[in-house]
Amino acid sequence: MTAFVALLARNRLALAGGVVLVCVVLLALAVPVLPLADPDVTNTAQRFQPPLSPGALLGTDHLGRDLLSRLLWGTRLSLAVGFAAAIAAATIGAAIGIVAGFYGGRTDNIIMRGVDMLMAFPYILLALAIVAALGPGLFNALIAVAAVNVPFFARNIRGITVGIAHKEFVDAARLAGLSNRRIILSEILPNVIPVIVIAMSTTIGWMILETAGLSFLGLGSQPPQADLGSMLGEARSALITNPHTSIVPGVMILIIVMSINLLGDGVRDALDPRLKSGALSRPMAATRVDRAQTPPPPSGAGLLEVAALETQFHVRNRVYRAVGGVDLHVRKGECLGIIGESGSGKSVTALSIMGLVASPPGVITGGAAYYDGHDLIGAPYGRLRDIRGRSVSYIFQDPLSTLHPLYRVGDQLIEAIRAHRPIGRAAGRAKAVELLRAVRIPNPEKRITDFPHEMSGGMRQRVGIAMALANDPDVIIADEPTTALDVTVQAQVLTILDDLRRSRGLAIIFITHDFGVVAQLCDRVGVMYAGRIVEEGLTSDILRAPRHPYTARLMACVPELGAGKRRLEAIPGLPPVVDNLPQGCAFADRCQQVQAACRRAGIPLERHGTHAVRCLYPVPQSQEATP
Ligand code: ADP
Ligand code: MG
Repeated sequence: MTAFVALLARNRLALAGGVVLVCVVLLALAVPVLPLADPDVTNTAQRFQPPLSPGALLGTDHLGRDLLSRLLWGTRLSLAVGFAAAIAAATIGAAIGIVAGFYGGRTDNIIMRGVDMLMAFPYILLALAIVAALGPGLFNALIAVAAVNVPFFARNIRGITVGIAHKEFVDAARLAGLSNRRIILSEILPNVIPVIVIAMSTTIGWMILETAGLSFLGLGSQPPQADLGSMLGEARSALITNPHTSIVPGVMILIIVMSINLLGDGVRDALDPRLKSGALSRPMAATRVDRAQTPPPPSGAGLLEVAALETQFHVRNRVYRAVGGVDLHVRKGECLGIIGESGSGKSVTALSIMGLVASPPGVITGGAAYYDGHDLIGAPYGRLRDIRGRSVSYIFQDPLSTLHPLYRVGDQLIEAIRAHRPIGRAAGRAKAVELLRAVRIPNPEKRITDFPHEMSGGMRQRVGIAMALANDPDVIIADEPTTALDVTVQAQVLTILDDLRRSRGLAIIFITHDFGVVAQLCDRVGVMYAGRIVEEGLTSDILRAPRHPYTARLMACVPELGAGKRRLEAIPGLPPVVDNLPQGCAFADRCQQVQAACRRAGIPLERHGTHAVRCLYPVPQSQEATP
């Protein structure tokens, strides 16, 4: 709730609308105790007094009645009728919509066809007809306005309910034996209330206008009772000679409707979870870069070199340090493994290199990513675009979400090729078939016309690999490309990558959480924890004798086939949340060898030859890590 108010308050216009509306409502509530003249007492001797006359701040109308008093009483009445109509329409409409959407089938059909019939009439005409049938009067105008708005709510809420009624949690509630009434009250209603509030906040202003419209025509409030619409209607004949009598109620209607609409838009933005998460804000074409310090120069250690990279997520007033100073490099023909628990920052590191972290909320706050000696971070977008997919390409984790569901895989491959090379469609097609064959998709000439959903998970992943290879890149960054695959397909995919590395001199950064994969494919491996590399070295060294307690414990979690029974040592506790990292070693709370010094200050990555470890008390080298 406080988050909602804070979110609403960030929207200046909505805040202004809210403040104005609160003032108007307070004023309307206070009317009976204010020292106002009687709004209905006529005094024809004093008719059409201009504003600021003695005893009549806003002047008087054609019967000499005090306009200020009539305005405030009228506002009170108009607000009350508008809100009452909105609440009535929302309640009845939502109830109809929920029942229709939840029960579906014939119930839905009958109810919604009735609603459609109501909607088929022009609503003002319908409102007029209802008032004509019931007789003029404010209460009947309220009924008419509510009735013509019911279909709008019913349709809206029915659509939402249909979506929710088929969700798994509703099925679960049904299987748990809850009655339909309980399901509607405890599962459906809480999920549609935000939609009801949003729909209401954007239509209340409209309903106040409609009520005023009916009163203006003489069908709403009856003389001498004032509401904003009837005041306007009575002032009509004096519009030219005494315009203030029209302007006063007109301005009040404008103020009320404007403030309600501004507030309503703000409420909608704050309540809609999709808007709240920023999912609808389009990310920038490259991650935002905001580096305070100049990055270290390239050491020339590899084709791709990441130096002191820091990437953060700025979400409202929180800062998530997803990557906190990562150094790594990969040479031509080399495979570097990056391993770590999920959430350790592997993907964000990989995405930062090419500026692919979504901004907002992502910001690269430090470091550099040198490709061939040139920094990619903060590079002009044209250059990034040129390199992306051609020199450095990615294989993403989930092939179903990276392939476009509505295009044939062949067309997507051809598009990837033609994005970087001016070749014709036929040549592109030939190249696509060749790529599919390279990743061992059987019968590629036929499979090229498949849609992604017609392929199995392993096949799609191979299409993803083929796409990454489409432009003969120098570096491939593979983000857990085999996690969704079964072991036989995984072995095939790894073999393909390994062959390419040997035949084309491809440099691979391979992200995984599987030591088996690392052992099979990688020359070197970096272990990540809480956004930093905690150990790095040759794969053989690390697998034989890990030095960081975290690596050792991570390896102790891996079962060995054929090694007999032993206890698998799960690591107790959870990785720290990266918006609140401890001062010292991030692993301290889960480490068995922890000492007081570990918590005091940040621990540097100490390098001995090819092996680097970020630990004050590393596991002694003679001791075997796995018992
Ligand atoms: P993994 O090692 O599993 O690939 P990630 O690199 O995806 O982990 O995530 C690293 C950290 O960044 C996680 O703690 C995650 O919570 C955080 N993170 C990722 N994306 C966002 C985001 N959009 N907003 C806030 N935090 C994020
Ligand atoms: Mg990941």
